[in-house]
Amino acid sequence: MNTKLLKDYPRNLWMEAADACGFCGAKYQVKVTWVDERGCFGDIEWKIPHKDDCHELIYEEESEGNDIAGWEFHDKVYSLMGREYYPLKTRANIGPCLQCRKLVVTVPLILFLDGGNEGELDFCFGCAKTLGILDQLKVKA
Ligand SMILES: [Zn+2]
Ligand SMILES: [Zn+2]
Repeated sequence: MNTKLLKDYPRNLWMEAADACGFCGAKYQVKVTWVDERGCFGDIEWKIPHKDDCHELIYEEESEGNDIAGWEFHDKVYSLMGREYYPLKTRANIGPCLQCRKLVVTVPLILFLDGGNEGELDFCFGCAKTLGILDQLKVKA
């Protein structure tokens, strides 16, 4: 099960994030630059190397920046489609995908448990698709 906290990621090293540009497919990159004493929250630099002909470049979207990352886990395990996860109790702007453990720079797929009282399950869209969570949601909708 994923119990990785922000402190468990390498410091000052560019890593591939879970998400990618919807147009050119370039992967976001993240670098943890600082983590607080508890190891849960800290600072992140991110960037995305869009391909030269990407639409996002035409609209001059930001392709790098800083943000606050971090999360804490709920202590109660939740089962989803035969897999078990510790839900996130809190999350800063940037948090992890509970399946692949990579960080998600943009918006993850969020399943709120009991309206958020029991925390939330966050997944990147790649994992949500692979695990069949997207299909499951479509059936319910
Ligand atoms: Zn792009
Ligand atoms: Zn993922």
